Amino acid sequence: MSKIWDDFSAVDDFFDPQKKKMTKRWILLLPALSLCHWYLKCGGCTMCGFNGPTSGKQKFAWITKYFGGLALHLLYWLGYWGIKNQNPENMTIYNGGNFLNSGFNPIKAKAEIPLSLQKTICRHVGQHPTIKKVFVESRPDFIKDETIAPLIKLLNGKTLQIGIGLESADETVRNSILNKGMSRLQFEQAIQTIRENGAQSLAYVFLKPMQLSENEAIEDAIKTIQYCFRVGVSEIALSCAFIQEGTVMHDLYQQGKYQPPNLWSILKVIKATAHLGPIRIGGFEDDPPPIAIPKSCPSCNDRIIKAIEQYRQSHDLSLFDDLTCHCQD
Ligand SMILES: [Zn+2]
Repeated sequence: MSKIWDDFSAVDDFFDPQKKKMTKRWILLLPALSLCHWYLKCGGCTMCGFNGPTSGKQKFAWITKYFGGLALHLLYWLGYWGIKNQNPENMTIYNGGNFLNSGFNPIKAKAEIPLSLQKTICRHVGQHPTIKKVFVESRPDFIKDETIAPLIKLLNGKTLQIGIGLESADETVRNSILNKGMSRLQFEQAIQTIRENGAQSLAYVFLKPMQLSENEAIEDAIKTIQYCFRVGVSEIALSCAFIQEGTVMHDLYQQGKYQPPNLWSILKVIKATAHLGPIRIGGFEDDPPPIAIPKSCPSCNDRIIKAIEQYRQSHDLSLFDDLTCHCQD
């Protein structure tokens, strides 16, 4: 398979913090009919580069422009054809927006993923011999009984997990700084809808929002994780900030007004929350490629990066026991 193909559909092994073991995952980066609804409406979230001019999504936009939703069906099956001998247990779809937005919804958003494709995927997974769970992402706006119940029925007893970018439990941080346009009530209602339909949720928590000091950011992430588990979230993904071009965060970084979190801050959040429930630690690589990622001082940076990488594959807190450095406080 060529490099460009791997960028779109690939299988990896990830540590599933719910099952506490390494799990084979099919990752599909699915182009959409249009960019993220929230990006089109107001420019999107201030740290998100997935819909910006340098993103892979924009590079693939011609596919749906000329060939419409049918092209997405074709891409799905081509992607599956490429990985079908690898027996994945988990299927993860990233479309850099809202998988559940098929355009037929009260807020009249421009469709991102056709309903026919949503159903085709869930019907396929429902009959697949090894895939047990499908993970998609969406804003709460599209998480309704009528958008998820038909998909869950097609999944035939398998699990639907929906990721939501809450980022922070603090209204000011979430809406004024990160421009999420999402109330706690909307978030909690979406979590409840997901639970009542027998699906699972995942909340993205963001370390560190702009305008927050290192300590404020640590505290915000810890409080947000506590809040999420309190309101019934099934799993957390801690997103440690990195800088992608074409974002508000990138502009602040260029002006010297923002730095991604210190690696020691990430360790503090992990240690303070690991006992609360399943928490994944997001990677520092993405598309478009980050121009800056979390770091510490030159003498401990590589050791901590390596320990975090090992932690991602084991969730063994003792990996951090022997780490010390003069820079750590
Ligand atoms: Zn250091």
